[in-house]
Amino acid sequence: MSVIDEVLKANEVYSRTHELRRLTPRPERHLAVLTCMDTRLSILTLGLKAADAHIIRNAGGIVTDDALRSLLVSHYLLDTTEFMVINHTDCGLTHATEEDLRSRIQNRTGTAAVAPAFFYAFQNIDENVRHQIQKLRTHPWIPKEVIVRGFVYDVTSGRLREIMGS
Ligand SMILES: [Zn+2]
Repeated sequence: MSVIDEVLKANEVYSRTHELRRLTPRPERHLAVLTCMDTRLSILTLGLKAADAHIIRNAGGIVTDDALRSLLVSHYLLDTTEFMVINHTDCGLTHATEEDLRSRIQNRTGTAAVAPAFFYAFQNIDENVRHQIQKLRTHPWIPKEVIVRGFVYDVTSGRLREIMGS
């Protein structure tokens, strides 16, 4: 049995009570969080419940075209007014360079590929957060009234540290 089969079984059990049925699609606390897919990050680390916020995740917590698309939908269609970007210590994307990642995969597969164009590997985490925030703050479709703040999550201490001047 694959893990997906186990998940299907668990869903069968969940659907008997379907506790989240009454949630609305609009985040109750009008918050959108963009963060890494890392297992050590969760709504639990942020004191959030399922209904509170949109959680948008990708490798690194990067403002890619697609993350931006989700944030715009979140704001314009579903009324979020605060964006929180979180990168974290010990992120997989800090352990290799762009070239390393590309050649590692090419060596395994024996073939090159044009997409993805970037893995968004990075070395300096504070700088990376600043860069993501800058991409959001300078975007013409993100109104100035939307609060945009950037953070580093320390996977050892469990604490968030705000990146000022971001
Ligand atoms: Zn990560």
